[in-house]
Amino acid sequence: MKQMDYRYRLADPELGSSELGFLSKCIGEGMISSQGRFVQQFEEEFSAACGAQYGVSVANGTCALHLALETLGVGPGDEVIVPSLTFIATANAVTYTGATPVFADVEPGTLCISPDTIRPRVSPKAKAIIPVHLLGQPCDMPAICGFAKQHRLQVIEDAAEAHGAEVHGQRVGSFGAINCFSFYGNKIITTGEGGMCTTNDAALADRMRLLRGHGMDPNRRYWHSVIGFNYRMTNLQAAVGVAQLPYLNAWIEKRRWVFSRYCELLGSLGNLLYFLEEPQGTRSARWMSTLMLKDPHGRDNLLDYLSEQGIESRPLFWPVHQMPPYKESSKGALAVSEDLSRRGVMLPSHTKLSDEDIKTICNVITAAFAKTESLRRSQAHS
Ligand SMILES: *Cc1c(COP(=O)(O)O)cnc(C)c1O
Repeated sequence: MKQMDYRYRLADPELGSSELGFLSKCIGEGMISSQGRFVQQFEEEFSAACGAQYGVSVANGTCALHLALETLGVGPGDEVIVPSLTFIATANAVTYTGATPVFADVEPGTLCISPDTIRPRVSPKAKAIIPVHLLGQPCDMPAICGFAKQHRLQVIEDAAEAHGAEVHGQRVGSFGAINCFSFYGNKIITTGEGGMCTTNDAALADRMRLLRGHGMDPNRRYWHSVIGFNYRMTNLQAAVGVAQLPYLNAWIEKRRWVFSRYCELLGSLGNLLYFLEEPQGTRSARWMSTLMLKDPHGRDNLLDYLSEQGIESRPLFWPVHQMPPYKESSKGALAVSEDLSRRGVMLPSHTKLSDEDIKTICNVITAAFAKTESLRRSQAHS
């Protein structure tokens, strides 16, 4: 895709003097690799912010998912249930282990998997479930964990898009056996690239630390008891994370406000579009404000029009089970994912947006629909 200078970008991370200050500490101290004080500090502070006991930082969110699966012993012959409507990494991490991702459909109101959509996909080979809190909306974790317990399945949250989201006041990252976050540049908290696994189980945390660092025995240097990985986060990444973390709650507030302004300002187009609900008892982090078109046919025109007007947007994720690597193995249609995937448009959703900015973007969206409507009318008359 060609690089464009958008007037309104989809994502625009807040980076300032504390990031710079901590980064120069790393450089001044010569601690730019994965040893250094910021790594442990970020692990402690981020896991605490999730209400989890342990944090194991990694190089990115995909590493986090792979490390979680390996640590729980997922491997060849196993199946792991994942939503089809997600970023590809959720499924790929399962494939890396030699296990098979089995795709579940999502609930139309939340784009999350649920016991009802998971149930038809459970086979005797199923070993784990990865609920994805898509776009910042948390899944119904008490229900999913209850279901998992009944069926003896492990739960790994993919909370890459949902830092700080809550279900009944409990934060995501604290529900599953191991839970995974990404700190990619467009996520709610960023470290450039980066990721974290959180857990409340000390043994799992130890196992993750072992596997993350080449399987090196913590008590015997350069003695490798297992085949591990190099999935470590650098002190530089962690320094940025430590600088970002104090803003987590304020940034969630801001993203929720951005979402609510889109809803209000586009409310009069209720016959053409809608926004996803936030079920009672849940608190979305509203990572990406996403409008859903009632008629998906005009979506590409809308994306193009926004781009022409200097507004960056993007289509909702394509269903993973329809993509070439997974097409053969997937078990047939997932009607809701396939349908909703074609309706979603992600809008600029970062914390630097002002009310004026959102008004401008909504005016452009309104104009796009007016243009389509007048085109349709003139075609009907000719
Ligand atoms: C971003 C993301 C990931 C992967 O994170 P990376 O840090 O880019 O590897 C995984 N799952 C979901 C749902 C994501 O949005």
